Amino acid sequence: MIQLADNKSCTGCACCYNICSHNAISMQEDSEGFLQPVIDRDKCVECGLCMQRCPELGHAPLPESSSCHAAYSHSFQRNGSSGGMFSAIADYILENGGMVYGAAFDDKLQLRHIAVDKKGDMQPLRGSKYLQSYTGTIYKKIKETLRNGRKALFVGTPCQVMGLRNYLGHDDTNLFTVDLICHGVPSQKSFDKWVEVIETKKGHIDGFSFRKLDGWSSPPRYIQKNKSKALRYDLEVYMWAFYKGYLFRESCYQCKYANLKRSGDITIGDFWGIGTHGIPFRQKQRYGISLVLSNTDKGKRMIEALKDDCYFEERTLEEGLANQHNLKAPSARPTERDVSVRDFISDMSLLEYGKKYHLLPRRKYLYLTESFIKDCMIEWGFFDVMKELVYKIK
Ligand SMILES: Cc1cc2nc3c(=O)[nH]c(=O)nc-3n(C[C@H](O)[C@H](O)[C@H](O)COP(=O)(O)OP(=O)(O)OC[C@H]3O[C@@H](n4cnc5c(N)ncnc54)[C@H](O)[C@@H]3O)c2cc1C
Repeated sequence: MIQLADNKSCTGCACCYNICSHNAISMQEDSEGFLQPVIDRDKCVECGLCMQRCPELGHAPLPESSSCHAAYSHSFQRNGSSGGMFSAIADYILENGGMVYGAAFDDKLQLRHIAVDKKGDMQPLRGSKYLQSYTGTIYKKIKETLRNGRKALFVGTPCQVMGLRNYLGHDDTNLFTVDLICHGVPSQKSFDKWVEVIETKKGHIDGFSFRKLDGWSSPPRYIQKNKSKALRYDLEVYMWAFYKGYLFRESCYQCKYANLKRSGDITIGDFWGIGTHGIPFRQKQRYGISLVLSNTDKGKRMIEALKDDCYFEERTLEEGLANQHNLKAPSARPTERDVSVRDFISDMSLLEYGKKYHLLPRRKYLYLTESFIKDCMIEWGFFDVMKELVYKIK
């Protein structure tokens, strides 16, 4: 009897869905909005391939990170969520005739993995989107690209990269994989509820930016008629819930990749707190610094290949780990997690939800003033000047 990983441990990577040549598996939304594989027993021939390839049921030993760099791309630092390293790697792959696979919103703000083969089409892939991306049949498309002798870059959460590796069943010299340091993923359904509330208050929105538009730690913004506008107070609740782990997929709380054994050739994240746990870091940090872990020989070769376009500085693995909880352990599961997910997607207002789970800053007006001052400082570059001053005084 074919039995896939249960709903609590399934990451939704969709490896089984891609591998089944009888189309007996479909990805269906559960009550929390997470996609789960469902087997059509009439179509299933019990070949067992889905079970053999499911990463939750087994995978080859993973490589371990051997070096840690602080890095940013000279050309793309302003375009990425942290140092723009994704764009630098993508540029290299495109220049070498390859295809890039990453997560982008469609025009209905549904997050999906898509393929890009032109530099001019890269923008939708850039930036972190804090929800689970639907991989669909992307692994099949990558296999096709590799079969045609082209290079392919795949970027995703570690469980998605593992899904691809298990789907392919072997490494391919033309494949380069990047896994993200990952705090966890809420469902598309939770994000849809957030968008619905914003649209009720502000009107139709065309896009969304979770992170940087003009500084490393700028607040989430919605985009309306090509203008980006910051969200304030109760409308930021989704992000507070994200940071505190209230909306994640069940498997995220037992993530197998929250350590230095990584599924990608390279791991990228933010180098939070750089210089505070090791030797001083003297580069400007306004637009973000990436943390880059090299996990394989391909990873090392990529760093060498990017040295002209990017700034790299070797730092210790200890420093890289210091402010990265998710390189040491999965996110903690709040005891109220189940009811919190149900509340979020119910008719409960965001303000009520924020109050119930103590997610709102306690003093609203102090918070508003603080974020206003921070916004102005970022806007006028004061943030950098202040940091530089503090550094010089020290
Ligand atoms: C859900 C999530 C949680 C994260 N948690 C942490 C964390 O705890 N600590 C940390 O240091 N960094 C975390 N990151 C990574 C960080 O936010 C940046 O994405 C990363 O540093 C890359 O930045 P960049 O400037 O190089 O590239 P960017 O231009 O920001 O590129 C982002 C890349 O990530 C891909 N991507 C974006 N959203 C998703 C998604 N939902 N699923 C799969 N792929 C996606 C895009 O396709 C693109 O390839 C997380 C990212 C995501 C998506």
